[in-house]
Amino acid sequence: MRIVQKFGGTSVGSIERIRATADLVQAELARGNQIAVVVSAMSGETNRLIAMAMDMDESPCEREMDALVATGEQVSAALLAIELQHRGIKAYSYTGAQAGVMTSSEHKRARIRDIRSEHLQRHLQAGEVPVVTGFQGVDDNGNITTLGRGGSDTSAVALAIAVKADVCDIYTDVDGIYTTDPRIVKSARKIDRIAYEEMLEFASLGAKVLQTRSVEMAMRYNMPIHLRSSFRDVVGTMVVKEDDTMERAAISGVAYNRDEAKITILGIPDHPGIAANVFGPVADAGINVDVIVQNVSAQGFTDLTFTVPRSDYRATMQLMRELCESLHGRDVRGDDGVAKVSVIGVGMRSHAGVAKTMFDALAKEGVNIQMITTSEIKITVVIEEKYIELAVRSLHTAFGLDTEAEES
Ligand code: ADP
Ligand code: ASP
Ligand code: MG
Repeated sequence: MRIVQKFGGTSVGSIERIRATADLVQAELARGNQIAVVVSAMSGETNRLIAMAMDMDESPCEREMDALVATGEQVSAALLAIELQHRGIKAYSYTGAQAGVMTSSEHKRARIRDIRSEHLQRHLQAGEVPVVTGFQGVDDNGNITTLGRGGSDTSAVALAIAVKADVCDIYTDVDGIYTTDPRIVKSARKIDRIAYEEMLEFASLGAKVLQTRSVEMAMRYNMPIHLRSSFRDVVGTMVVKEDDTMERAAISGVAYNRDEAKITILGIPDHPGIAANVFGPVADAGINVDVIVQNVSAQGFTDLTFTVPRSDYRATMQLMRELCESLHGRDVRGDDGVAKVSVIGVGMRSHAGVAKTMFDALAKEGVNIQMITTSEIKITVVIEEKYIELAVRSLHTAFGLDTEAEES
């Protein structure tokens, strides 16, 4: 088999962990597999680098930020290659540029366009191990780019597709995808197999275990992902195409995201084009609007409420104040203490009453729902951030997701 193994920050977080990671590479080689490796920076390193730059300048040049943070992955790739060579394995570290990872030019959120992987494939055929830095690439002008936080997952899946691997093994500090974040719900259950579509909702609604783009890409090219632990040798979770053997519970899991802020623009004239008026400038500023609610209009005026990532809160408030003034609106209100909780499941298509169960469970805990949005396979609500853990736990229980040991 040909396998791309990706190791996250905790798996390369120290010399001991790098040795343990080398064991995992060596074990797969011993089984006769061809291995390419993708690594993240040592855990905490990317944050450390960002903090240093922010100390100098609150909004540092994005090109230089990419040049800076890309060094984290270079350290771990070289260290792992040194350890593998020490064991007599032919291993070679490659930066994104050296590995031929060609991206768009948007710094800090570049997209992979192509991987020129001929030389990596030659290594693979010769039984050698290329160790590629995750998270980074190069644009057409030779600038170093990065793919957004958590981007090494996307590097790994893209490389797996480029070298036509059989599977992309993503090693991390949990032993699979759980019904919710195991850090906040101890009774969360490991999922054996999950459909791309569900995993995509999980990731985009806040489960940081896989970067959303990596799942999108895996789904498009039908690349199986095996998410597993680098600490314990157990089978993890397979992220694959939906099939008939998958569980058909109404809900597969609960995701949450604290990175939310809510803005309301009050008393603006309700005429065709008003939504375009409001959201045009927000989109032009590169800000992603998420949940939107528009009130029924009264006497020709309406209110619009929407959410944006918390980091864009101040900029969006400023835009809305300007807009409100030009439209002679009544007021703009904001709240950056909100969060989003979602229940997800392809089973929702064939189960009625999911919304009722969700709203009842939150009501029982006294959690007020501020906004609601749904799709075919998810229901999301916006609530006060301080209730987020309570909400996640109570939904996890209400949908029968707790492990049996915890239920009794
Ligand atoms: P890495 O550094 O290996 O990329 P991450 O921190 O990005 O690791 O992702 C692993 C973490 O994702 C876990 O430690 C866990 O707390 C978190 N996580 C959030 N939601 C889930 C979930 N549903 N299942 C598993 N892990 C989750
Ligand atoms: N080191 C990068 C980050 O911390 C990329 C990654 O770990 O996937 O976001
Ligand atoms: Mg990650």
